[in-house]
Amino acid sequence: MSVYSPRQFKVLCIEDEPEILRDIADELADHGFMVDQAPSAEAALPQIDAGTPDLIICDMQMPGMNGLQLLQKLRARGDAIANVPFVFLTAFGDRETAIHGRKAGADDYLVKPVDFDLLIAAVESHLRNAAHREAATRTAATLETEALVPGYDQLIDYLATQSVGMALAVIKMDTQPELARRFDGKSDKHFNRLILRLAHSKGLRVFRLQPHVWIAAMADAASLQAALAPLVQMELRDRLSSGTGLAKITHSVVLARTSTGEAPPALIDRMMESARLLQREGGARMLELEGPELSELRLAGAIRSELVGAIDQGELHVHFQPKVDAETGLPRSGEVLVRWQSPLLGHLSPAMFIPVVERAGLLPHVTDWVLQQTALAQVALVADGLPARLAVNIGASEFNADLPDRITRIFQEYGADESLLEVEVTETSVLTDPAAAEAIVQALHARGITVALDDFGTGYSSLSHLQNCTIDTIKIDRSFVTRVAEAGPEQTIVLGIIGIARMLGMETVAEGVELESQRAWLALNACDTLQGYMISRPVRFEDYRAWLADWSKAA
Ligand code: C2E
Ligand code: CA
Ligand code: CA
Repeated sequence: MSVYSPRQFKVLCIEDEPEILRDIADELADHGFMVDQAPSAEAALPQIDAGTPDLIICDMQMPGMNGLQLLQKLRARGDAIANVPFVFLTAFGDRETAIHGRKAGADDYLVKPVDFDLLIAAVESHLRNAAHREAATRTAATLETEALVPGYDQLIDYLATQSVGMALAVIKMDTQPELARRFDGKSDKHFNRLILRLAHSKGLRVFRLQPHVWIAAMADAASLQAALAPLVQMELRDRLSSGTGLAKITHSVVLARTSTGEAPPALIDRMMESARLLQREGGARMLELEGPELSELRLAGAIRSELVGAIDQGELHVHFQPKVDAETGLPRSGEVLVRWQSPLLGHLSPAMFIPVVERAGLLPHVTDWVLQQTALAQVALVADGLPARLAVNIGASEFNADLPDRITRIFQEYGADESLLEVEVTETSVLTDPAAAEAIVQALHARGITVALDDFGTGYSSLSHLQNCTIDTIKIDRSFVTRVAEAGPEQTIVLGIIGIARMLGMETVAEGVELESQRAWLALNACDTLQGYMISRPVRFEDYRAWLADWSKAA
């Protein structure tokens, strides 16, 4: 199919010498072109505005505005005329002008006196090229037309006709306002073209469900995954805005299969919901709808959205676990451990939800609440004349310069004594910025608060580092304590930790003591304090108070 026929084309000739103008016009008309004539650049402008020509032939030397000036004027315009082929006529031997013309964006030049065969050949060639260019952009434009991409209804129809299970992927593109700006508000169109091109090259079927959301279908899950891999975390050169920066685009892709027997509309709903979730958690990933990562993400999302309400609804509570003197068994303090019983999510272990809450930046909500509970408990224990030292866990993200004042504020509000408080921090808290950490430890010490290094031995455990900090206590991680009664490397490690702690004037607490054999070995080897199920599980406040009261009666 030819896209070229001279009759379709209008050529505008601009030439101040009437004879040359007439000759060129006649020649073009003889070859079937529609011809407009203008004796000057000034005269040509209103003609151009009246109807865009398909090609312009223009003399270079003219009184008033010359050809070069006209060309520059047209090329600077934002409308269709800026792309119309422009052919110069120039005097024989005027090489400089020809070069200027080419630089200004002319497509060709012809030397006067005009060789008409050459003129017609040049005009035809430029028109043909322009026609091809236009056809190409028209095809791309057609591809972009939303109406031509099948949508939700077609997807459901399509799936209904498939006798075998299909692999489906939801592709959800970034809709960040920043990205929309970079794409000049045309990001959906841009992505649509990208997806369609991908679909074409990889043999996918695609359906457009919403702006920025597509479903791709393929018979085979592995091929679908492979086909979409390049999409994930790709960086697209941002050609639509004038800047040269790279726009980072996140694609959240959720894969699923129709072979499970689930009705497609329900399956697609679930996929869409998961893609939204994935996007909220940062996107740029491809996950299986039924895979473990997505269920973790789902839980994380739920934890996050439930947390603030949970505190208000009284779904959080605290348990207390005693730490006792290794030699005498006398209570020294108690660790406050948070619990969350969610009507929606069930019982959640702090080991599971604290990291999620911390990543979401919501840990201060929990910690403030735990500190309040700790202050209340302490006041009650003091009133009963019972040992009232309590320890709270502080996340690494909260171990900052504000912490000491935060504690003071809460303890003052509840009339509690902060010198009866211990904080337990992990190694990451003190290792990331040792100097800053030491300043915080000092500020806590100034309030009489002691600091324990939690889970010692599991992190980086830079022993040399301990030298430069004034931490009071090291808590030996349960993973070592579990095997401490058997001859093996754990004994050596625990002995090493106790030895170093002694040398540095620090106390040691053994976590997770469950057996008499463990207790005996730890007491024999000069561990100061024990904590674990063998002594007591973490229990509610009333039980903790009763446990303490039993001890004080016995003493
Ligand atoms: P952790 O600070 O190492 O707390 C000790 C954990 O070991 C507690 O688990 C406790 O119940 C458990 N445990 C104590 N003795 C034994 C034992 O003899 N055997 C065994 N198998 N386990 C024992 P829990 O309460 O599930 O807490 C898990 C972690 O969650 C804590 O580890 C702590 O890192 C974090 N966490 C708990 N409450 C809070 C809190 O209020 N704030 C912060 N930031 N983190 C908390
Ligand atoms: Ca702890
Ligand atoms: Ca611990």
